[in-house]
Amino acid sequence: MLIDHSLFTQVVWIWMISGLVLLPVLLNITAPYGRYTNSKWGPLLDNKLGWFVMESPTLLVFSYFFLSGSVTKNIVLWIFFGLWLFHYVYRVLIFPFRTKTGGKKMPVLIVLFAICFNFMNGWINGYFLGSFTMTYDITWLYDPRFILGVLLFFIGVYINRRSDTILFALRRSGDKGYKIPYGGMYKYVSCPNYMGEMIEWGGFALLTWSLPGLAFFVWTVVNLLPRAFSNHKWYRATFADYPKERKAVVPFIL
Ligand code: NDP
Repeated sequence: MLIDHSLFTQVVWIWMISGLVLLPVLLNITAPYGRYTNSKWGPLLDNKLGWFVMESPTLLVFSYFFLSGSVTKNIVLWIFFGLWLFHYVYRVLIFPFRTKTGGKKMPVLIVLFAICFNFMNGWINGYFLGSFTMTYDITWLYDPRFILGVLLFFIGVYINRRSDTILFALRRSGDKGYKIPYGGMYKYVSCPNYMGEMIEWGGFALLTWSLPGLAFFVWTVVNLLPRAFSNHKWYRATFADYPKERKAVVPFIL
C-alpha cells in the first residue's frame, strides 16, 4: 500500500514537532532505566532483554519497508541501507550483550514507549527510502552533503562505541556499581556516547538530505540531551572528585 506523498510528509512533520514539544517534559522527567531505574513505573523486565526487544523494531521495520518498497534500489540507496544496518545490528544484537548490568531490570513501560518510538523512526525512514526516493542518482555520491554526512556518521560511530567500551571496562561481570569514566572524549564530557550518537544521526540526516532523517535526528537530540544533563548532574552529586572541567555533552560549551 502506497501512502500519498503529501500525507506522509505531514505525518513526518507532526512526528518531528511532537518530539520538540516533548523536550521540556524530558528536561524535567528522566526516563527510569539504567541508573534511574525504579519500580514506580510498574512491572520490570531484564535489562538486556529489554534493550534487545525495544531496539529490534528499528532493524526489522526499517528493513521491511526499505526492501518491500517499490523504488528500484541503486548503489546510493544500498549505502543508506548499509549504514542503518551498521548501527542497528550493533545496537540490537551486540550492545545489549556487551553491557554488564548485574541482573538489573528496567520498566516494561519504558520498553513499550521505546518500541513505539523505534517503530515510528524505522517506518518513516524505511518507507521514505524504499518508496519515495527517485532523486538519488549516482552523482549523489560526490555531493558535499553526502561526503560530509558519511564522515560525521563514522566519527559519531567511533565516539559512541569507544565510549561504550570505556564504560563496560569499568565493571567486572556481576557488578552493577558506577565509577568515574576516564579516557577518550570523557576528558571533555560526561556523556560522549550520547554525543557520538547525536553526531551519527546528524550525519545520516545530512547524507540522506531527507525529512525523515532530520526527524530521527531531532528525536535523538530530544532523548539524549536532557538525559546527558541528568547524568552530568548525577555524576557531580555522586562523586566529590568528579572532574570540574567536564561538560555534559558538548565539549567546552554544554
Ligand atoms: P548509559 O551511558 O547510561 O549506559 C551505557 C552502559 O554503561 C549501561 O550498561 C550502563 O549500566 C553502563 N554505565 C553507564 N555509566 C557507567 C558508569 N559510570 N560506571 C559503570 N557503568 C556505567 O547509556 P544508555 O543506557 O542511556 O544508552 C545506551 C546507548 O543507547 C547509548 O549509546 C545511547 O547513545 C543509545 N541511545 C540512543 C537513543 C536514541 O534516541 N537514538 C536513546 C537512548 C539511548 P546501567 O544500565 O547499569 O546504568
